[in-house]
Amino acid sequence: MHTSGLPDTEHLAERAREALARCGVDRLREPVGAAGTARTPVTGGILFPVEFDTAASAERAVAAAHAAFPAWRDTPAPVRGALVRRLGELLREHKGDLAELVTIEAGKIRSEALGEVQEMIDVCEFAVGLSRQLYGRTMPSERPGHRLMETWHPLGVVGVITAFNFPVAVWSWNTCIALVCGDTVVWKPSELTPLTALACHALLMRAARETGAPDDVHRVVLGDRSVGEALVDDARVALLSATGSTAMGRAVAPRVAARMGRYLLELGGNNAAVVAPSADLDLVVRGSVFAAAGTAGQRCTSLRRLIVHEDVVDEVAEKVVAAYRQLEDRIGDPFAEETLVGPLIGERGYTAMREALDRAEADGGRVLVGGARRLEQDAKDAYYVEPAVVRMPGQTEVVRRETFAPILYVLAYRTLEEAVELHNGVPQGLSSAIFTRDQQEAERFLSSAGSDCGIVNVNIGTSGAEIGGAFGGEKDTGGGRESGSDSWKAYMRRATNTVNFGGELPLAQGVRFL
Ligand code: NAD
Repeated sequence: MHTSGLPDTEHLAERAREALARCGVDRLREPVGAAGTARTPVTGGILFPVEFDTAASAERAVAAAHAAFPAWRDTPAPVRGALVRRLGELLREHKGDLAELVTIEAGKIRSEALGEVQEMIDVCEFAVGLSRQLYGRTMPSERPGHRLMETWHPLGVVGVITAFNFPVAVWSWNTCIALVCGDTVVWKPSELTPLTALACHALLMRAARETGAPDDVHRVVLGDRSVGEALVDDARVALLSATGSTAMGRAVAPRVAARMGRYLLELGGNNAAVVAPSADLDLVVRGSVFAAAGTAGQRCTSLRRLIVHEDVVDEVAEKVVAAYRQLEDRIGDPFAEETLVGPLIGERGYTAMREALDRAEADGGRVLVGGARRLEQDAKDAYYVEPAVVRMPGQTEVVRRETFAPILYVLAYRTLEEAVELHNGVPQGLSSAIFTRDQQEAERFLSSAGSDCGIVNVNIGTSGAEIGGAFGGEKDTGGGRESGSDSWKAYMRRATNTVNFGGELPLAQGVRFL
């Protein structure tokens, strides 16, 4: 397919093959049973066929990771860290190749694709440090001659299911931490991004060979939800860490719970920023435009609602619209230097965006800018859109749901209580922000009576979290925490130990027996 303003699909396929080869993927897998394809949202075209897994081959991957677990569990944690250190070096060496694949498969602009790979490198560094810091506590025992303490042990096989929009970073949040914690991993990436997964897996396998880690410390299985379900239902998967839509989380959680497995869910967001009258409005505009239109609105932390004080709402809306107009000639080929907004992942995202805009208008909303499709003549199967800003009279049902596309709803408020009520009045609870110069207001938003989200920011947008903090959200976002801080604890099991070094056997709580 030739497309005038966009690269050729054949050309992208060639670039993908070359990047894969440089990462050590020389052939696209042994046949395991199911025919799949790699696609690119840049043109909407099919790149080439890729062998997908079946439920049976996924089961074999779990069995292999399960068999590798005891040896990995018994490897000292700092030695496990050496594997992740080597992976970090290889990711750094292949940063350009991996970013290339992220752009081809997920449509991210070059700078964001490079940023996503950098995030993996950062996580490797964090995890290597962590490999010497898997600390347990020692607590004072109430009994004389006793010591009370806790130790953290590896869990087993961790199943990692990831979404298309962070095809590699979310894998690293889970895998680098799980590996230093002594777990083995089976990864099912999104069916929309199999190539980035094959490249990461190949680099990790090279690191494993070079550092003497067991071969099956990591397996990748490709395919859609049916392959994911093989991980969900397998009792040997001690922890299932799943990232994706709330609908996916609702399907997965009860099944894992039914077999008494553990799950860690990172689901959809509907993130908002409150703009107080004292806010620095230029900061608001810069922070909001990146958060709402960056990654074409396809981040779980994308800004979807701007809740603005009534005294400044018109001015803020006007400034945001002006900034969006500047984006209009920067929508297109994500490889082009000047592009800021790449494609949506596919038709599904575009249809959801159109339906949401129609619904918002029917609810009395006014589209202030954007919403039109672009480059349709160049590539009929690619979905480029102008990011949209919609002024809403209230927080209707369409505003309360996550539409995974670049729509920013603007709502007005009068008092901070009202702003917080609007803010928290959605089912999701991932990321949030307040723009204000009033310290009391900022503190109230940060307090337990303020934002109900897992991420709460002041004078910065909702997206673009650093890896050092725990990442995740509440309510329909699923409650999981990944990446930094003490998120590692989800990947280990805790044992509480009481050691009696005295000659007596006193019972706790003063109980007497014999
Ligand atoms: P999706 O739910 O369609 O798919 C996510 C993954 O789950 C894919 O690998 C898919 O194959 C798998 N899957 C779907 N149903 C399954 C089932 N029943 N059993 C097992 N596996 C199943 O999501 P998507 O369209 O790829 O990604 C977008 C969504 O992900 C958005 O809602 C976004 O907010 C969310 N997301 C959340 C985070 C976070 O950290 N909170 C990060 C990225 C994306």
